Amino acid sequence: MSLTLEGKTCLVTGGSRGIGRAIALKLADFGADVAITYARSADAAEEVKSEIEAKGRKAKALQADAVNYERAEEVINEIVNDWEKLDVIVNNAGITKDNLILRMSEEQWDDVITTNLKSIFNYSKAAAKPMMRNRGGSIINISSVVGITGNAGQSNYAASKAGIIGFTKSYAKELSSRNIRANVIAPGYILTDMTGELDEKVLEGIKAETPLGRAGEADEVADAVVFLSSDMSSYITGEVIRVDGGMAM
Ligand code: NAP
Repeated sequence: MSLTLEGKTCLVTGGSRGIGRAIALKLADFGADVAITYARSADAAEEVKSEIEAKGRKAKALQADAVNYERAEEVINEIVNDWEKLDVIVNNAGITKDNLILRMSEEQWDDVITTNLKSIFNYSKAAAKPMMRNRGGSIINISSVVGITGNAGQSNYAASKAGIIGFTKSYAKELSSRNIRANVIAPGYILTDMTGELDEKVLEGIKAETPLGRAGEADEVADAVVFLSSDMSSYITGEVIRVDGGMAM
């Protein structure tokens, strides 16, 4: 069997930039029609949409704050109405608001937990019925190695990313009988706008802690997403795949 996503329809939250953008483009490379959501970057999202269409696939770029449950339902309904079904959701939208616990504001805590964790509930729940009607689906939730190891200055982010792992395993246990698989990808240090804000010294330290000795590319996370989206992973559910150069082993 060859790895193909032809005939599949996918949704990537936060697909305008970084890892989400790379995922959306690679899903299209393998033959899927792809919808992306974004919060603010309308121009960047439209560019991703045009690039997907240039590959001969259908595309949508939808403004949708991932924290909003009603909007998640609208997005999924639009895809199912226009494309008949939704096979894959990649819950990728996420933010950081780093601070030491003693200095962390309630707002910093709430924003990160809501954006990174509630968003996963929103899209996974809203997709469950359409996927059940379609007799299957694949949910791929983007966590982080920080959700496994913890990280000083990122208690809000680490809690959200650890929460994603517990949520995904519970979801997999509830919905496997309906042929809906749910898995986690936990990236390590990947070059994007999000990590661009770290200073040079911190970056060097991260590289030193990574057995493969380098930062990862968004494209390398996208490779794992393609696998979990495809029928090549049909017997894998509730799994956490680290894409971290060995950082958290
Ligand atoms: P990024 O470059 O900052 O891009 C974040 C994406 O999420 C953007 O498309 C952004 O949309 C979208 N987004 C943010 N808040 C949103 C909201 N409320 N509603 C909808 N979309 C929203 O980040 P990244 O590095 O690609 O990270 C992507 C995911 O991978 C995140 O979940 C992150 O935690 C995870 N991750 C990243 C790394 C890393 O090293 N980079 C490591 C581990 C895990 P706009 O363009 O509209 O703002």
